[in-house]
Amino acid sequence: MPELPEVETIRRGLEKYVVGQQIADINILSSKQFFGDPKIVIGAEIIGVRRFGKGLIIDLSNDFSIAIHVKMTGNLFYDAGPVRRSPDAHANKHTRVIFKLKSKNSKSWDSYLYYNDIRKFGWIRVVETKKVMDLPFFKSLGPEPLRDLDLPLFRDILSSTTAPIKSVLMDQHKISGIGNIYANEALFLAKIYPLRLASSLHQGEARRLLGAIEEVLRKSITIGGASMANYVNLFGKKGAYQENFLVYKREGEKCSFCKNLIEKIKIGGRGTFYCPKCQREVS
Ligand SMILES: [Zn+2]
Repeated sequence: MPELPEVETIRRGLEKYVVGQQIADINILSSKQFFGDPKIVIGAEIIGVRRFGKGLIIDLSNDFSIAIHVKMTGNLFYDAGPVRRSPDAHANKHTRVIFKLKSKNSKSWDSYLYYNDIRKFGWIRVVETKKVMDLPFFKSLGPEPLRDLDLPLFRDILSSTTAPIKSVLMDQHKISGIGNIYANEALFLAKIYPLRLASSLHQGEARRLLGAIEEVLRKSITIGGASMANYVNLFGKKGAYQENFLVYKREGEKCSFCKNLIEKIKIGGRGTFYCPKCQREVS
């Protein structure tokens, strides 16, 4: 599933290319994934794109917003060019919604934003802008690294639970934006064993871990996220973070610090990768 850096990469692409355009039409091919009245947004101008955790909010000029969660396999593709392309340039059998956009400044071509989703778990919702944060998904999000998650808050969250630290990092109600990739990477960088109980981390470890979380997220955003499964940006281009994985999906390979072999265990059903020498069970 795309995590904070991947969804942020999509957000930045949308901000750069679709803000200022008008929604000329919407073609909904999968009605089970689209909620709200599409007619409300036709004719409205896109004025901004926000992201909270792994969720996106496209704000419109008519006080409505389009909230999007791409879930496991959703992707947004943008197609525009000086030569007007066919509306199905990026459409395929997994296309669920097509937004036709019109630029105010250009009369020569239209552009299209495609929502493709193989497994159809993602959703798109039209809601009043003032009510968008009341949607259960956004309302239940915990604080977010690089935004409002500071050390005192992080320590409060850790001390209030006895779950394994890795599970806490991935719990969107406790901390938003981190999924399996960045939880594995941050714990390795902070040299913390993934099964350690969250409440057992002392202040120095919490500080180190928060710093590691911020470092891996920042680095990944800089290089366009990680392309596992089918994640690509608005133009179908892959991110590069997967070329820099420290432990994720690297079981049996050498740790870059100590040359010990990386191991894989399961925590909460999710593949967990760590170096048994760098991330000792008892610290
Ligand atoms: Zn190691």
